[in-house]
Amino acid sequence: MSIEVRNLKKRFGETVVCDDLNLDIEEGQLVALLGPSGSGKTTLLRIIAGLEVPDSGSVLFHGEDTTGADVRERQVGFVFQHYALFGHMTIFENVAFGLRVRPKATRPSDKAIADKVHELLKLVQLDWIADRYPHQLSGGQRQRIALARALAVEPKVLLLDEPFGALDAKVRKELRRWLRRLHEEVNVTSVFVTHDQEEAMEVADRIVVMNRGRIEQDGPPDEVYDHPATPFVLQFLGDVN
Ligand code: ADP
Repeated sequence: MSIEVRNLKKRFGETVVCDDLNLDIEEGQLVALLGPSGSGKTTLLRIIAGLEVPDSGSVLFHGEDTTGADVRERQVGFVFQHYALFGHMTIFENVAFGLRVRPKATRPSDKAIADKVHELLKLVQLDWIADRYPHQLSGGQRQRIALARALAVEPKVLLLDEPFGALDAKVRKELRRWLRRLHEEVNVTSVFVTHDQEEAMEVADRIVVMNRGRIEQDGPPDEVYDHPATPFVLQFLGDVN
């Protein structure tokens, strides 16, 4: 599913958070929104998700204006920084959840759900912990399950907001490889928010650098790294290095 963001504007009180943003994301791309805290990354992601309404402008999915559409109709999968796994459900039930709550007419059979859950658990190499509960897993394992759960409903778009932000450096590095691998297998259009330039460089096909609600640069990782387009990008990449 391609995503087009057109002349998007959003302010909170005096703060301009999206300052006339335009962005085209191609089907199957993995795009990182990279920038310092407060640059508007999460708000842009939330508007794409349909969780936040813009003041003006629009978001098109595959050419269709989705602004104001019900979030459930958007076929979007989410992964957030803080694991939103259900503590009282097994890993199997957590991954199955999105399929089980479907209206009866479109709900797969129990067998089809079980097959899908095991396929996804195998994909994140955690099939062996299907019967455990979230508190019995490490932080990195929980985020792999969160990814599997987001993919269970076969979303057209996957949105990730600092998904590895709460994890230590070693686990983060491992999960970057996971996300990249998963993306190659599933190839769903994905938008990934991070303030960590190394993460963006390693994971994304394309990096959109944001600052104060504007896009400073938009290009492949090598290009952003080798040819920073503005003094801000140069300084931001330099700061983190
Ligand atoms: P980032 O993800 O880059 O850290 P955000 O989109 O979270 O940026 O925030 C951008 C700005 O908008 C910040 O100044 C933040 O304080 C403000 N902001 C975000 N959400 C709200 C809200 N619901 N109400 C008021 N201000 C908000």
